[in-house]
Amino acid sequence: MDAKVAKKVPVVEGLFTWPAEKPQLIGTRCRTCGSVFFPKKVACNNPACHEKKVEDVLLGTRGKLYSFTIQYYPPPPPFRYSEPFTPYGIGLVELPEGVRIAGILTTGDLNEIKIGMDVELVVDKLYEDEEGNEVVTYKFRPVK
Ligand SMILES: [Zn+2]
Repeated sequence: MDAKVAKKVPVVEGLFTWPAEKPQLIGTRCRTCGSVFFPKKVACNNPACHEKKVEDVLLGTRGKLYSFTIQYYPPPPPFRYSEPFTPYGIGLVELPEGVRIAGILTTGDLNEIKIGMDVELVVDKLYEDEEGNEVVTYKFRPVK
């Protein structure tokens, strides 16, 4: 029996809860002014804030598409992608916490991407590494 089992490994540790049935992005909230950041920060970036003590916070998994672009050509290194390359959307998604996050959009049809549409967080394959593991990242998909 072939004992080699493909594992799902996160592209970067600490971006989202993993493994998890309902993955969530891990951000930072300032304990003084309430500003929320993603990815995690070691201090508050609000120039008007003086205390700057922060804590990890799990972000909401649904948001609205604020803006987007289409990646029509394979991204150059160090970025990687699934072969064969197919064009995909890259969205800027506004979460309920007010933070805007860039991420790949998972849609079968690029024409269905519309500014203002509801999207939800998913964790999905980015590429396969040299050991056959599935390297996963967060993406956003339209809420039907
Ligand atoms: Zn602050």
